[in-house]
Formats: sequence, structure tokens, C-alpha cells
Amino acid sequence: TDSDTADEAVRATCDDASICKRFATSKGYWKDPYIQYFVRQIGERKAPEINRGYYARVQGVNHLLDEFLRKTTCDCQVINLGAGLDTTFWRLKDEDLLPKKYFEVDFPMIVARKIHNIKTKPPLSKPIIETHSTDALLLDGHSLDSDRYCIFGADLRDIPGLEDKLKKFHMDPKLPTLFLSECVLVYITPEQSSKLLHWVADTFHTAMFINYEQVNMEDRFGQVMIENLQRRQCNLAGVEACRSLDSQKERYLLSGWEYADALDMMTVYSVLPQEDVARIERLEFLDEKELLQQLLQHYCICWAAKDKLKLGLAQIAF
Ligand code: SAM
Repeated sequence: TDSDTADEAVRATCDDASICKRFATSKGYWKDPYIQYFVRQIGERKAPEINRGYYARVQGVNHLLDEFLRKTTCDCQVINLGAGLDTTFWRLKDEDLLPKKYFEVDFPMIVARKIHNIKTKPPLSKPIIETHSTDALLLDGHSLDSDRYCIFGADLRDIPGLEDKLKKFHMDPKLPTLFLSECVLVYITPEQSSKLLHWVADTFHTAMFINYEQVNMEDRFGQVMIENLQRRQCNLAGVEACRSLDSQKERYLLSGWEYADALDMMTVYSVLPQEDVARIERLEFLDEKELLQQLLQHYCICWAAKDKLKLGLAQIAF
């Protein structure tokens, strides 16, 4: 059916993200010793502005995530929605920043692939086994559950299904919990993401949500970005919320969150540690500065918090 084709195209987007991250790390934009186990080949060259865009995305999201882990002294959970082939769990293990439990959710087909990679690549499985205590860890084709890392297949458009599985894998609603979504909500309708945001706000008294995705989609450049994705038959059901930074924030404030903020990636790029930005700007020559600016102005990070435990989550910023 059409909707199967659209879901299939959406699933393929996780390869795009990882292929671009693999290329950028091969050039030295940032370090990720684990991505090679999910994307074997370095693949064809990407334009410097794409690499800088991924740099800003990864550094920006990591900054907020690490701040949350510090504020909660890792006495928390992280739930990565639409995680794809993301390697954050392994970075946090190496940096001694693991939360009590790190969950990943994606379509069952993507999860099965990721589990296969984990099972067959010791550098991926070792950290999971090392952080697991007693009983045998639960492992089948569609889910893997250990003490500190859990991955399972679910559809983010089905909240009861998502909630059942999180309960089954011992998610604790009383722990401060961070939800991450990187280029995911744009694929579900505004009603579906609003239900998801409501459910998080109703279920967790202390939580943060970090969302990275497109913004300012109503101008000429934004329209071209949308056309490019649609040409690949991706169903951009959620693009409406990508109108502006205000519309990104609004959906949290209308779904029971206490605090929300959003920055476009041009702004994020300009407030990241500038010694490191200077370092990556020397990696590849870029003469089309305007193209980089335009690209960065069309992505944003939006974050929201509710903080019953008064951990200071509202102070997390750049
Ligand atoms: N977050 C990862 C990253 O940044 O590398 C992957 C991003 S990829 C662009 C989007 C991911 O969201 C894909 O892995 C896709 O399968 C997942 N996804 C999209 N819609 C979903 C849904 N309804 N339920 C579960 N996963 C979904």
C-alpha cells in the first residue's frame, strides 16, 4: 500500500543520517569509533556544508544531553525515539556518563538490523555485557534488554503499544527521564506528536525533551528541502510544526510542559565552543558561506522540561 511505501522510505532515512555521520567522522569533524560497525563503507564525499551541519547537530544535541546527565548525576533514564543506528549509548559508556538505563525505540525492521550488528560486533556487544550484572540478558530478533541498555521495536504513532513495551522493559516513570528525537517527529502527524508529548508530560513528573529537526519551512529554501524529501516518497506528515521556532516551542507548551526553548542551528553553531568550530572549519575549505548559513537556518534544536524534583532542568541551555 501507499502507507507501507511511505514507512519504508522513512525507515531508509536512518541510513542517510548514519552515512553522513560516518563520512563526517572520517574527516575528523568529531570522534565516533562505533559508527563504523553500523556503516561499513565511508561512502561518497559529502559537501563541506553538510559535514558542518552534522557537526552542529551532533555537538548541539550532545551538549544538552550531557547537561541533563550532569544535572541528574546520571540518576535518570534516556529514551531515544526513532534512534536508527545512533551510537550515543556507546559514547556515554566510554565517557562514564551512562544513565541508569538507556532505551532505544524504532520500527521493528530497523531494530532487528541494529541487534544483528550488536550481536556480531564485539566492540558493540562488550559494553552491553560489561554493564550487565546477573541473569542472562534478554535477546530475540526484535528486542534486546540488559541492565543498562534496551532496544525494542515500536511505532511512535501507537502510544499504548509504546507504553506497554516500556513497562515490560522496566522503565521507571519516577526517574528523571530525557526523551531524544533527531529528525523523527517530522514523519508523524502533528496530532500524533502532540499525543506523544502529552503522554510524556502526563507520565513523568521530571523530564526533558530534546528535538532536532527542520524549521522555517515556509520560505523558498524550505520548500525546496520539502520537495527533495517528497521526491523520495517520504511522508512529511509533521512538517506543519516546522513552520517556525515558535511553532516548535508551542507544541510543548500546549502539551503540559513547563518550559520550552528553541534555537536555529546557525545560532547553535555560533555558540558552540569556538576553538573547536575553528578547528573543524580548517578541515575543509568552504567558499559558499551563504549556503551553509541557509542550511543551518532551516534546522533547529527545541528543548522542553518539567521539573517537579527541582533539579534545575529549566537552566539547561547553550
Ligand atoms: N535519530 C537517528 C539519527 O539521528 O541518526 C535516525 C534518524 S532517521 C532520519 C529517522 C528514524 O525515525 C528512522 O530510523 C525511522 O525508522 C524512525 N521512525 C520514523 N517514524 C517512526 C515511527 N512512527 N515509529 C518508530 N520509528 C520511526
